[in-house]
Amino acid sequence: MSLKITDECINCDVCEPECPNQAISMGETIYVIDPAKCTECMGHFDEPQCVQVCPVECIPVDPLHTETREQLLIKYEGLQALARTQVRERNALDAAPAGGLSVV
Ligand code: SF4
Ligand code: SF4
Repeated sequence: MSLKITDECINCDVCEPECPNQAISMGETIYVIDPAKCTECMGHFDEPQCVQVCPVECIPVDPLHTETREQLLIKYEGLQALARTQVRERNALDAAPAGGLSVV
């Protein structure tokens, strides 16, 4: 399952940098979790890191996004592959000559 942040959130900013998947961001009024990116920290840590640090314990599992352990692992692999692609693209851009590539 993905986790979710309830309206008890006090916007303390502590959880956002702890997420290994960059799944947490500021929403309209409180922080939110992107269920497409939350793996319950599977693949990175034994326990959900956001839950560990939240001072008001407002990050329960989200019953609307139920997933098995296998599905979470597949999501983790997909996110890792995406991250590797983004790094490769960034490196290629950095290595390109100033002014961009010319076509002849
Ligand atoms: S459980 Fe882990 S992956 Fe999910 S939002 Fe929290 S820190 Fe991020
Ligand atoms: S750690 Fe808890 S209270 Fe703080 S921003 Fe995250 S969800 Fe909100």
